Formats: sequence, C-alpha cells, structure tokens
Amino acid sequence: MTPESVLKTDQYKEWMERFPSSTEHLILNEHVSTVHNVRSHKIQTQLNMIHPHIFPLLRAALHVPNVRAECLLKFQLRPVMEWQRDAVPSCNTEEFMKEASEIPNFLEEVEKCRTSLLPAAGPADGFPHVVFLGTGSAIPMKTRNVSGTLVNISSSQSLLLDCGEGTFSQLCRHYGDAVDQALSRISAVFISHLHADHHTGLIKLLQQRQRALANLGIPFNPVYLVAPVQILAWLGQYHDFCEEILHHFSHIPSRSLCDDADVSKLKPDSSLQSMLRTTSLQQFRTCLVRHCKNAFACSFVHQSGWKLAFSGDTMPCDAFVHIGNEATLLIHEATLEDELLEQAVEKRHSTTSQAIGIGMKMNADFIMLNHFSQRYAKIPLFSEDFSDKVGISFDHMKVRLYFKTLPKLTAALKTLFAEELEEMEEQRELRSRRGGGCSPVMQAGAKRGQQGAPLHSGDSKRLKSS
Ligand SMILES: [Zn+2]
Ligand SMILES: [Zn+2]
Repeated sequence: MTPESVLKTDQYKEWMERFPSSTEHLILNEHVSTVHNVRSHKIQTQLNMIHPHIFPLLRAALHVPNVRAECLLKFQLRPVMEWQRDAVPSCNTEEFMKEASEIPNFLEEVEKCRTSLLPAAGPADGFPHVVFLGTGSAIPMKTRNVSGTLVNISSSQSLLLDCGEGTFSQLCRHYGDAVDQALSRISAVFISHLHADHHTGLIKLLQQRQRALANLGIPFNPVYLVAPVQILAWLGQYHDFCEEILHHFSHIPSRSLCDDADVSKLKPDSSLQSMLRTTSLQQFRTCLVRHCKNAFACSFVHQSGWKLAFSGDTMPCDAFVHIGNEATLLIHEATLEDELLEQAVEKRHSTTSQAIGIGMKMNADFIMLNHFSQRYAKIPLFSEDFSDKVGISFDHMKVRLYFKTLPKLTAALKTLFAEELEEMEEQRELRSRRGGGCSPVMQAGAKRGQQGAPLHSGDSKRLKSS
C-alpha cells in the first residue's frame, strides 16, 4: 500500500531487498489499474453503439507500469503458493456488442438513428457541455452512481453540481489518464442539500483536486463552494478530527444567493463576484425547494447567454420555475414514475411528468431528467408527455447544451432495454390491479440478478440519503 513516490526511493528499494527472494510483493497503490465493475463497462459499450459521442467509451483508467494488485486477485498459500486470477473480472467488449446485436431490431434502430442524425452532425466536443457522472438516487449502484453532474463551461473552467459518494471514481472512469486535468478545471461546486447521495463525495474530490493541481504544477486555489451553511459543521468536524480541509474551499452560503436574502447579513458579495469572474458567469441564483430543510436549487447564466437550471431534489416548486425561467437546459430530478405519485409526495420528490411539467412552465429549451430511483437501474419508464424537448440521463453521458439529437436516440434506447421496460410495465400493471400502493424497491432489478447490488459499500447507507 506504498505510494508510488515512496516505492521509487532507494531507501524503500533497499528495505524491500532485505526480504528473501521467495517473498511475493503485492503492490496496491494509485498506479493500480483494474476493472471491478463489468456491468458499467457493458452498458457503456452497448450505449456507445447508439451514439459514440454522447455515450463515450470508459477509459481503462490509469496506466500500469508493472504487475499490480487487481480486484478479486487471490494469493493461495496452500497447497501450492500461487497467484489466482480466475475471479478477476475482465471486459470483453466484443462479447457485450454481440449480446446487444442479438436483441431483436436493435441494429436496425441504431442504423435508423444514425441516418436521421447525419445532417445534424456537429462538433462533438464543443463548449459548454454536460457530463452526467451520477444519475441515480439514494445509494450508488453499478449502472447509476449517486448525484454528480459536471458542467464543462469552457476548456479551462468546470462547475460541479452535487458530489455524491464515488464522484471522484466516476471522473476517473470517464477521463482515465486525463482525470487530473478534469479535476484542475473544477473551480466551483454547488451542493444542493445535505442528503448523503448529494454531498459525501466532496472531501475526496477536494483532496484529489489539490493533488491534481500539484501534479500539474498549477498553483493551489480554493474552489468556490455554494452550499447550505450547515455543511460547515460536517467539514469542520473533519478538519478538527481527521485532516485539514477548510483551506480547500471558499464558502458561499446558498441562502445568500436567494432573491429574498438579507443583503446586509448574508451576501458575501466579493466571493460571489470573484466566482462569477472566474467561471465567466453573469449570474448565479438559488432558491429554497420543497424537499428537506435547507434544500436548494440553482440556476446560472453564462456571459454568452446560455442558462442552466438544476433542481437538486424537490417536489414541483414554483420558486424554482421562477429562477429557472427560459433556461437553455433544465436538469430536473424525476425520482419516480407517474404511477408512484403517492410515494413521491411522501418522500418529497418529483415524478417524471411533474419534472417535465416544471420544464414546460419554465419554458426551458430542453429538459434532462435524472436522479432516478434505483428501481430503474438501467432505464426509467417513459411517460406519455415525453416530447422532443425531453431526454433521460445515463451515467457518463456527455451532451452539449444546444442539442436536438437526444430525442432521436429514444427508439434505439427502448429497443436495447426492451426486456427491462417490459418487466417494469408488468409491475406497473400488477400494482394497478392490486389497487395501487407501493411495491418493494428494486423489484425489477432484483429479478435480473445482481443488478440491485450496491456499487460501493460506503457510508451512504448509514447516513440519511434520498
Ligand atoms: Zn434528498
Ligand atoms: Zn437525492
């Protein structure tokens, strides 16, 4: 477990050489590269067949200079001492593609989708664009991590919307060797509220950002952290009892950016102004939403005119409609399907149609739905009011702000996940025959094997999350 920098020192090498030559040295540090989550690579390979830019292939992560530890690598002591690799997961891209090709009509739909997109094909990497790092709610799963959305404003500036547990790992999977550059570009983070699925990845992100800046030789500068003031209690405790963290950020209380904020008491105007300058934004607003105490949504306008609105977690909320008015892109949570309205009210979340309704009220150019309940691990149920202004997000999906492409992918997506959709429809019917009510979470997933297995066994289960 020795960091690479220590491993390379003569002193450490000498120490290692003092062991007998029969000793096996297992190295487990930041240079280890291993796939532990085959399911996430599989879904991404298959989505990539539909659109290679919107669903980019995952990177094989950091380079491997040597034989290093791998997930599920075993060392047997008896009867024969040997390394065993039989359980080490491997990704067979061809196999994943073959499996998708065998789904009835899938290749035909992909071809139709390609032909319809040809005339509209534009540059894939233009700015601004949004990378969805986590699109699930409550607990991290293999195909959907918890909340995290990266807005790449320009080639040098990014803003992160929420930072659930595992957000740094998702960045590694998405950017591979270029993860340090991606981290170094993040100059502002917005945390919507203090449920674990929205903020517990923050400390790791801040530490890794500092490491990345040092690694790239860029002078350290704190990140602008727009978050409820209550986050300081958590960060302060970490700072006091674990390691120093408070110098990593400059806090701007979310409440101070609400329209009705008491300017004299709250507005940290200089921090706000310097955040706006750094990120080339003209305006950054927040509002209280209908979820838990101190939950906020935000909207921001770029100097070039585009506007993004992000709901965090909320039931339909008029204050959010107000600050998100005429957004170029609305990212709205759609935790549950329409039929589970009662549960949505109880947990203070939105259904698919409610989220779309908010986008219509806002007159948003485009509505991206996210934060799906993990019962929709692969794909959520489509509701009737899906129009050509609505898209659903997937982890690692990359979309530009001005897009007409996404609705054209719907037919191919529905074909790829036909089996899952059918199962969910069946459940819906079963529920309505039983006269409504709730079904156990993740039934649809559980039926298909380990889909319901959490991605990380981290703290989020112990903390309040939703
Ligand atoms: Zn929540
Ligand atoms: Zn949530």
